[in-house]
Amino acid sequence: MDPVQIAVIGAGVIGLSTAVCISRLVPRCSITIISDKFTPETTSNVAAGILIPHAYPDTPVTTQKQWFRETFDHLSAIASSAEAADAGVHLVSGWQIFRSIPTEEIPFWADVVLGFRKMTEAELKRFPQHVFGQAFTTLKCEMSAYLPWLEKRVKASGGLLLTRRIEDLWELQPSFDVVVNCSGLGSKQLVGDSMVSPVRGQVLQAQAPWVKHFIRDGSGLTYIYPGVSYVTLGGTRQKGDWSLSPDAEISREILSRCCALEPSLHRACNIEEKVGLRPSRPGVQLQMEQLVRGERRLPVVHNYGHGSGGISVHWGCAVEATRLVSECIQTLRTPGTTSKL
Ligand SMILES: Cc1cc2nc3c(=O)[nH]c(=O)nc-3n(C[C@H](O)[C@H](O)[C@H](O)COP(=O)(O)OP(=O)(O)OC[C@H]3O[C@@H](n4cnc5c(N)ncnc54)[C@H](O)[C@@H]3O)c2cc1C
Repeated sequence: MDPVQIAVIGAGVIGLSTAVCISRLVPRCSITIISDKFTPETTSNVAAGILIPHAYPDTPVTTQKQWFRETFDHLSAIASSAEAADAGVHLVSGWQIFRSIPTEEIPFWADVVLGFRKMTEAELKRFPQHVFGQAFTTLKCEMSAYLPWLEKRVKASGGLLLTRRIEDLWELQPSFDVVVNCSGLGSKQLVGDSMVSPVRGQVLQAQAPWVKHFIRDGSGLTYIYPGVSYVTLGGTRQKGDWSLSPDAEISREILSRCCALEPSLHRACNIEEKVGLRPSRPGVQLQMEQLVRGERRLPVVHNYGHGSGGISVHWGCAVEATRLVSECIQTLRTPGTTSKL
């Protein structure tokens, strides 16, 4: 039996993790990642990489929680292994603070992260503008390490990486039996999905090695996420804005907002500006589709539209996408189906 030829479009965190998951769980397959950009040029490279879920209004909360739990457990295992430093995955503790009492004092993910509790009065004293807070330990993926580490995993399992822009999924037929679409914002054009749109995010990466605790304003707009080689200071959420150029005025404003929460950041140095376009969608598109053109068929598994929280759910989504790929292969191998397998 020939190996099944699988094309994964996209080399951000979603494409790379889905390729790794398929190579682990699907026997007798050959994987090629096809992408017009690889690390360090993807949106995923700009992400702070902290595991705090973002709500997808069109995705059931039980599903979001399952994706988050699977991702958290998977990365926890990496963080407590000898691979942790190479993969850039580590635990980080800190606070999420609110200017008014949130509707959900205990979010759906509270029992997934470690040691979730309300902040004490003594902790809140540090933040006179804030009246409520949550303290917990979560994980952080340093994307500058995690994405190359995933790429290495793909190559080690025999996968190929190809730099190419795909204009039409049919270009991949008949060379590939199954296509996995992890093209993020690229899906707007590639599959004509008008529901996916950019939410621009500008952040600063700064040297401030004394900052060890994360601080996130509950609005999600201002955050300080310490990592291994830099602290990420954020941010912005600019809907429909396609500009990838940093805006100096916005950078000054981000720094000032972060310094208000953590005054020691006035001494931060080597500040770099980064911009990424989040692939926003009301719900993650994670499903199988059978494209048909005359006698020709092309099974496609979509996995895109992770918006502001792709790192937080990537492994759970990769597991689900892999299950869908296995279903496609089973159908192809069923006698009576037109297939070369
Ligand atoms: C400033 C900022 C901070 C963030 N912080 C966090 C955080 O702390 N935690 C969190 O969980 N999430 C965070 N996110 C969100 C996270 O970055 C995204 O959800 C995630 O990166 C999406 O991954 P992706 O692989 O789908 O997209 P991408 O990284 O954009 O990858 C898409 C890939 O598809 C390729 N592609 C697209 N179209 C085509 C085509 N036609 N042909 C070939 N290749 C194509 C691209 O080249 C690219 O390789 C943040 C985002 C931003 C912008």
